[in-house]
Amino acid sequence: TEEMLHRQDKLAAVGQLAAGVAHEIRNPLTSMKGYAEFLQLDERDPERQEFLNIILDEIERVNVIVEDFMVLAKPKVVELEEKNVIPVIQTVLSLLEFEARKKNVKLHFDYSNEIVQIECDENRLKQVFLNFVKNGIEAMPNGGELHVKTSIHENNVQISIQDTGVGIPEEKLKKLGEPFYTTKKNGNGLGLMVSFKIIESHNGKVFVESEPNKGTTFNIVLPAKIA
Ligand code: ADP
Ligand code: MG
Repeated sequence: TEEMLHRQDKLAAVGQLAAGVAHEIRNPLTSMKGYAEFLQLDERDPERQEFLNIILDEIERVNVIVEDFMVLAKPKVVELEEKNVIPVIQTVLSLLEFEARKKNVKLHFDYSNEIVQIECDENRLKQVFLNFVKNGIEAMPNGGELHVKTSIHENNVQISIQDTGVGIPEEKLKKLGEPFYTTKKNGNGLGLMVSFKIIESHNGKVFVESEPNKGTTFNIVLPAKIA
């Protein structure tokens, strides 16, 4: 089954509000982090050290959520630059190599062209690939294979992220990208929402194909200049 994912309307309202709130949360969070780190400097009691570590970890967790939401504040990406997307993907894969190995997942990257220039905000795009590849790894609790492939279709590049994981039942496909939709114990259900938003702001599209117990492929299509 294949479904095109576009969530623009749903996101517009919730996104603007959430992004505004996220922005306001950020400043107090920064000062909480600063003071907790300061207290840690001359704390001798190991138990209190541990409590401060927990506080700092939890602050970091809130930070990740806040940063995800702040993506929604900017309807258009600002820092567009022409970049070769191939090394961008390679960087992301090498960042996740260790995590993949721990989970018995093999990462593969097959690209059709060495140079695929796209107008992009590189950091945002990295965040997108990171989210999709991480989701793929997390979908394979017993290990498996994750393939990233690029292919060229006219003036577009299609980047496919394919896993051999648990898959997604058809009736759940439309929930993908809804804020807080997660099936994971430690998930936050924001990764896809943010990723779809970023792809949209690059004039791209995302398609998903999935078969329960076989695996899932996310296809990202972006306008590109091919060398
Ligand atoms: P999170 O990873 O925090 O759960 P995401 O927005 O990244 O949030 O993903 C939302 C949900 O979509 C996941 O909890 C999972 O149920 C489903 N999902 C996303 N990617 C995959 C995948 N590759 N295989 C199976 N399910 C997936
Ligand atoms: Mg995720």
